[in-house]
Parts: sequence; C-alpha cells; structure tokens
Amino acid sequence: MSENLKLAIQKKGRLHDKSIQLLKSCGIDIENFQDRLFISSPNFNLDILFLRDDDIPEYVQDNVAHIGIVGENVMLEKGLNVDPVKKLGFGKCSLMLGIPEKDDLKDIKDIEGKTIATSYPKILNGFLHENTINAKVIQISGSVEIAPSLGVADYICDLVSTGNTLKLNKLKKSFKVLDSQAILIKSKKLDENVNLKNIFDKLLIRIESSLNARKSKYIMMNVPKESLEKIIEIIPSLKSPTILPLSVEGLYAVHAVIKEDKFWEINEDLKEAGASGILSLPIENIIL
Ligand code: ATP
Ligand code: ZN
Repeated sequence: MSENLKLAIQKKGRLHDKSIQLLKSCGIDIENFQDRLFISSPNFNLDILFLRDDDIPEYVQDNVAHIGIVGENVMLEKGLNVDPVKKLGFGKCSLMLGIPEKDDLKDIKDIEGKTIATSYPKILNGFLHENTINAKVIQISGSVEIAPSLGVADYICDLVSTGNTLKLNKLKKSFKVLDSQAILIKSKKLDENVNLKNIFDKLLIRIESSLNARKSKYIMMNVPKESLEKIIEIIPSLKSPTILPLSVEGLYAVHAVIKEDKFWEINEDLKEAGASGILSLPIENIIL
C-alpha cells in the first residue's frame, strides 16, 4: 500500500476547529478524532497528526509531517526551513505592542531604550531591527501581560484580538508588529516523493476551491425585461450572469456568482434598478 500524506494540525486550541472544518469542506471525512494523536481519513490518502501548534513547524521541517496548518506568528517565530504555501483566512490576530494605559507612544522611535516582554523574541527583534530601534527584549513564555505590573518590563508584545486581556492588566494597544492568520506549510522534501506530491496537489486544489467558495455567494433575482441591461451592469459577476426566462411573460431570473463583500454593496442598486426577490446562497466549492 502506498504512503499517505501526513498533515499536522493543532490538537486543541484556536486553530483546531477551523482546521477540521476546512478539511471537511474539502470533502475529506474525518471520524472519531477526539483524544486521538493520529487518524487516517477513510476517503482520502491523508493521515492527520494532532500536535501542539508550537511543534508543527519542526515536524514539517523534519518531514515527519509532510504539511501542516499553523499560525504565521508561530511559523515566523520558529524560523525553520519550511515552505509557506497558502494563507487560509482564519485564525486572524495581530502581534502588537502593549503599553501601560497612562503612557503615550506617539512615534515608534519612542520605544528606544525600553524593555519589552514577549513570547515572540525573534519576530520582535526583527521588527526593532527594521525600524533601527535599540530596545531590550525579554522572553517570557506565558502571561506576558503581567510583566509591566511586576516591573519586569516597560512594555509587552503579544497576540491581541479584542484587547480585553490588555485592558484587564491596565494596558492598551500601541504599534502593530505583525498581522497573522493560519497558513498551510509544506516540507521542502515533499516534492521528492511523486506519490505524496500528487496527493498534495489534489488536496491543494480542493483547499483553494473551498477558500474561493467561502469568499463568494450565489445570487438569484427576478428582473423585468426592460431592467435586464442595467442589472447586468451592476452585477460584478465572476463570469457573465445566467439569464433564464420565467413562465410570466417579460420576466427573467438572473443568476450569478459574486464576491461575498459585494452583496450588500449592490443590493440597494439592484432593487432600485427593478430586481425583486433577491436571494443569496452559500457555495460549497468553486473550481476555477
Ligand atoms: P497549543 O496548546 O497548541 O500550544 P496555544 O495556547 O499556543 O496552543 P492558541 O491560544 O490555541 O495556542 O492559539 C493558536 C493560534 O491561534 C495562535 O498562535 C494564533 O496564530 C491564533 N490566534 C488567533 N486569534 C488569537 C488570539 N486572539 N490570541 C491568541 N492567538 C490567536
Ligand atoms: Zn502553542
């Protein structure tokens, strides 16, 4: 029997559910994975390894897992020899500088000479270097946000989404160091194995079609003949819209695939131009 492609995903945490969801949206069955370290899909040549996110880049570098899903923040911080393949659109967060509420940082250069606590010393040092700033970076592995109140550091640099954790510790957001999201990474050695490379190429096509679909909507509406031309002008369709005559004389159904964010933008214009019964439906996959 030929070898399966091995994918490493987070065992538990912020990226776990969305990683599973992505695979399912690619038609890959995953069963009984609770509390397992390793499973094989019954309908695709894929084995899934469940790991701590911090360990994923190393497993992929060593080709123990051929591919992995991990935050860009972790990928960059580890700085290992893996290929980034595709940003996946979930797990979005920012690595930001957090400063005491009473402080005021107007210019990035004002960090000069300060002490910053972080779990991301490599990324932060890169950022400081790029901005030609000298600051002292202290590495802390958890609860970075208490460092200023303990007097260990002036500022912190940590992952932030809402900023609530900062607020609880009398800190506020300051400069952004990095925008991050989940990314598919791949071992440099994967291409040497033709069988695995083929499985990977198939998987990547499915992932791309699922991501394309997520960003799109299928829209339908009824349009009187005299409004057709105007409506077609308004619709920013992927391809030209489909126009079907209805049983009522002079009335047409117009179907199109559009980018999701455009739907609300054009909704009013469509109504004004004479469209009625405007529907939008989710799409599962788009093979371009
Ligand atoms: P593990 O047990 O796997 O080491 P963890 O505690 O390091 O888990 P999580 O808190 O589950 O990690 O976060 C995993 C990833 O989710 C982060 O590395 C980051 O890429 C992403 N993420 C998205 N939003 C946030 C957020 N608000 N705070 C922290 N991480 C976030
Ligand atoms: Zn972790």
